[in-house]
Amino acid sequence: MPRLLIVANRLPVTVQATETGVEVLRSPGGLATGLMRPHAQSDGLWIGWSGAPDDLDPAQQARLDQELAGMRLVGVPMSADLVTRFYEGFSNGVLWPLFHYLLDQIPLQVTDFDGYVEANEAFAEVVAAHYQPGDLIWVHDYQLFLLPGMLRERLPGARIGFFLHIPFPSEELFRTLPARDRLLQGMLGADLVGFHTPAYLRHFALSLTDILGHSVEIDRVQLPGREVRLGVFPMGVDAQSFADLAADPAVEAEVQTIRGDGSVRILVGVDRLDYTKGIPRRLLAYERMLHTHPELREKVRLVQVAVPSRTNVEAYQDFRTLVDGLVGRINGAFGTPQWVPVHYIFRALSEADLVALYRAADVMLVTPLRDGMNLVAKEFVASRTDGDGVLVLSEFAGAAWELPEALQVNPYDVDGSAEVYYRALAMPRAERRARLAPLRTRVQTFDVHRWVAAFLEQLAELSPVGSQPGLPAGGGAARRELYQRLMDTASLLLLLDYDGTLVPFTPTPDLARPDREVLALLRALAARPDTAVHLVSGRPQNILEEWLGDLPIWLHAEHGFLSRDPDTRVWVPAAELGGSWREPVLAILRETTQRTPGSLVEVKAASLAWHYRLADQETGARRANELRLHLNQLLSNQPVEILAGNRVIEIRPYGVHKGRIVPQLSPDRQAATAIVAIGDDRTDEDLFNALPPEAITIRVGSGTTRARFRLDGVVGVRQLLRSLLESGAVAVPEQR
Ligand code: UDP
Repeated sequence: MPRLLIVANRLPVTVQATETGVEVLRSPGGLATGLMRPHAQSDGLWIGWSGAPDDLDPAQQARLDQELAGMRLVGVPMSADLVTRFYEGFSNGVLWPLFHYLLDQIPLQVTDFDGYVEANEAFAEVVAAHYQPGDLIWVHDYQLFLLPGMLRERLPGARIGFFLHIPFPSEELFRTLPARDRLLQGMLGADLVGFHTPAYLRHFALSLTDILGHSVEIDRVQLPGREVRLGVFPMGVDAQSFADLAADPAVEAEVQTIRGDGSVRILVGVDRLDYTKGIPRRLLAYERMLHTHPELREKVRLVQVAVPSRTNVEAYQDFRTLVDGLVGRINGAFGTPQWVPVHYIFRALSEADLVALYRAADVMLVTPLRDGMNLVAKEFVASRTDGDGVLVLSEFAGAAWELPEALQVNPYDVDGSAEVYYRALAMPRAERRARLAPLRTRVQTFDVHRWVAAFLEQLAELSPVGSQPGLPAGGGAARRELYQRLMDTASLLLLLDYDGTLVPFTPTPDLARPDREVLALLRALAARPDTAVHLVSGRPQNILEEWLGDLPIWLHAEHGFLSRDPDTRVWVPAAELGGSWREPVLAILRETTQRTPGSLVEVKAASLAWHYRLADQETGARRANELRLHLNQLLSNQPVEILAGNRVIEIRPYGVHKGRIVPQLSPDRQAATAIVAIGDDRTDEDLFNALPPEAITIRVGSGTTRARFRLDGVVGVRQLLRSLLESGAVAVPEQR
């Protein structure tokens, strides 16, 4: 296992100055629990802010460094002023509310972005200083959006993962951020960017398209020279440890104390006191329920734990006053000498007390207005080893995606929520158990350890930037080895793409006519002893015929849908033409073209293509994504596939691809033939895939590829082909 460098805003400790030095205590938490295992097993480091006061004297600082080093933790030094600007100001004052759709919590003027940049730089310095080649770097959360980009500049070959623990908001909202470009570019410094849900990934992908003009495949973004993967990794909890605590006799005794004689049903809420958690509307819905169902008075109780949080951020101070007021109002209006309707606890509980509360609950209320995941919901489920209890879950929590058997609520709908709470209280035992069982299986299976492993496995599998085997244009050992191979083989099978491989891209497809040099080169290659030349293009038959029809070579049009051999020169289709999908798709493409200046539709025998090379970069990419989403829905039942190529979207019959043209060679023939395939985009990967492993496959330009070699561009391709002519002189023609 490679060494793991975990980078998060906070180290998993709390530090306090004492008379004699400092006290460093481990602070438990879901993330820390999950990451401790790979931290220990990989002999890695955890890098973050220690939270220590910045006025430690030298002796205290030395002691702190020593204690941290003993746990393989590395502190990032930050002054109190920097923490205020970076953490309280920009991270929690701006990013947190915006990413949770609560724009009204953002101050009118934002001045702390420079602190955010400075803090991310401070992290980058420390990480770079500790990095060793081969390490995996895993950066966490919204405080460190810029860090992956800063690390990529310092450590170009490093493998970097980034995980966002909060929602990624809709692109419409995200683009209100003045720093939007820099934040996105920062994230794209990573090789793998992870989110809790597919919706967050989708929002991010749309932001990349609309704001930076990148075209995004479902799970990847191609940048010049490298690729960034996107993935969905819903975080879990340490389910076993919650189950263990639930079985603890002391916890069981506490459950009995809370429940008393069982005559009062208990609703429970556990949250940080944060305006995203929906506590005021939860209280209002509870109040509403007491109004509409007066028979519940003195028969139910809401225990609300609110853990003090971010007390230095202004929005949180006002919020506390609001919650205090609502609790007071409800207790004042409904309380009796025997009964307090809301039992309000404003402090953190121990894990054991928390589990006791989860176990004592008849109904667990998890009703955030927005939440990246919400671990409390999963902890409740993990603690209910008795198989009972009802989870009421906001549809705006990331967890709702994974926990559909919970009773879902829209927390903004106070009256509707009141009715859902009532329904939860009234739910028969059999239904409670039937709903909880699948939730438990899922929470146990996809626990925090599984989450960590899934992310790290994918990150470790990605090949580090620059490690792709390269065949530098004009030389190199790989090239010499390649020539040797070619000289040792009697016959040659050449499979060549056209655009971007033999000729450079042009603003419109009709400008990419073959020049004299390339025509002469192809003719000479065709005349080379025992050499078959196949030109495999996405272009239509008539263009290939017009431009290259005189050459004694194989022509394959529309990715192999139509082929022509050099002798008969008759075009033969590989499958039946037509299909009911063509007319509606053509109408959509034409409509998109009208709305996208510079784009054009290409109608081919088998397929339809929409080109946007000449369109404005941002508009083109945005329309291309919209078009793909639209067509995906429209064509889900049709035998066609939608391909995103180099600034082109192509819709073609399923199963027709360049891989189909590979001529069948007998085993003897195959051993005696050097197969050389050269291409520059995704469609050429189908060809590479269909070839035997010893084939010489060459990718032109950047991008992930199955090819064994790489060339920079058209010039390099032509150079290689010319040298094949020279090596032809060495090959043994007599063996034909
Ligand atoms: N928690 C805690 N002490 C408490 C109450 C809650 O440590 O008194 C923990 C709880 O167990 C959970 C975390 O705080 O692991 C809250 O995580 P969640 O994802 O629900 O919300 P966040 O606070 O991260 O927004």
